Amino acid sequence: MEFELNEEQKMFKESIKNFAEREVAPIVDESENEESCPVGLFSKLGKLGYLCPGYPTEYGGGGLGEVGTCIMVEEIARICSGIASGLMVQSGLATFPIWAHGSEEQKRKFLTPAIKGEKISAFGLTEPNAGSDAAAIETTAKREGNNYVINGNKIYITNGTICDFVTLAASTDRSKGSRGISTIILEKDTPGFSVAKMRKLGHHSAATGELAFDNCRVPLDNLIGEEEKGFKYMLEALNPARISHSARSLGLAQATFDASLNYAKERVQFSQPIGKFQAISFKLARMATAIEAARSLLYRVARLFDQGEECRKEAPMTKLFSAEVAIRVVEEAMRIYAGAGYLAESPVQRYFRDAILYCTTEGTTEIQELVIYRAFA
Ligand SMILES: Cc1cc2nc3c(=O)[nH]c(=O)nc-3n(C[C@H](O)[C@H](O)[C@H](O)COP(=O)(O)OP(=O)(O)OC[C@H]3O[C@@H](n4cnc5c(N)ncnc54)[C@H](O)[C@@H]3O)c2cc1C
Repeated sequence: MEFELNEEQKMFKESIKNFAEREVAPIVDESENEESCPVGLFSKLGKLGYLCPGYPTEYGGGGLGEVGTCIMVEEIARICSGIASGLMVQSGLATFPIWAHGSEEQKRKFLTPAIKGEKISAFGLTEPNAGSDAAAIETTAKREGNNYVINGNKIYITNGTICDFVTLAASTDRSKGSRGISTIILEKDTPGFSVAKMRKLGHHSAATGELAFDNCRVPLDNLIGEEEKGFKYMLEALNPARISHSARSLGLAQATFDASLNYAKERVQFSQPIGKFQAISFKLARMATAIEAARSLLYRVARLFDQGEECRKEAPMTKLFSAEVAIRVVEEAMRIYAGAGYLAESPVQRYFRDAILYCTTEGTTEIQELVIYRAFA
């Protein structure tokens, strides 16, 4: 079932699908095995206008809104979720605060080069003592003359080891809690800034880093929007990011289904393809149904967002639902593949390792549940 896309969106879907199969698929194994992010993809996609398809064309984007971002993320994630995760952060999370609240100078210096793939961005919110409770961050930014002096740590930061700048949450007044947080752009060459690679269960081709700030001096001009509005800006960025995260889950779920269907047609036991056993065919039927339900919800929410709705409950709903669908689908795939799925060279073992992350990033499933319930309470 094809979700109703307009002509421009359909053409974009076709183009990005071809790009993913031609340019991404051949480098997945090497990137995953060597645990390295293929950074060249940022500029390749940027030159074509595919990297940040949601932003307006005047900044180098595709002018295709959140639906366009989701199409890009879904198609790349169908090939590799690890690679999609870095592109997804670039296409929204890390650039959104600059787009929404940045000065024209910040847009010229950071947003446009990010959209074109000339600069890589990261979103620095999570810390060792502040995960779900993001308001508890301990990184500080103290004013000194024309600078902020930044001290603290961030962990699990996607694109952390390859970024040119970080869109960073730091407290300019810790006594105010979340109301004392500001969003500041920190460039990678800032003295006192260091990055360490974090190794992971899955998403090996994503460049995940632990960031340390030791008396990093950043110009006051790098403050995004107003001081002490940063927590609001970061949460605001998380909303569309949850929609595109849902597209990532969906892309992986679709890839898993496609692989499982092929395997069920090819693998013969008891003199017939295993897909002919009702136990296997019913699994595939349920996988396909869940994926279609997730796709319908996702693109409805993306379209709502493009119509100017905040989607405060709908964005976490689609994030939560797609994550659970992806996790269910990979579990079923492992049963369909059985022993063959457990081998290192099997495609589904990567999907299995990657999917389990979806209940954590962009807020855990439990945090989505909290946010959804609060919208009704
Ligand atoms: C690979 C990867 C990439 C990431 N990329 C980024 C990034 O680019 N930028 C960034 O800033 N962060 C990033 N993160 C961090 C991610 O957003 C956090 O891991 C996530 O928010 C959860 O925080 P935590 O891991 O500290 O879990 P915790 O907050 O310690 O949660 C542990 C458990 O307690 C539950 N819990 C906590 N509070 C509540 C509550 N109030 N009610 C019910 N249950 C609760 C959680 O749901 C979870 O089950 C990334 C993480 C990973 C693993």
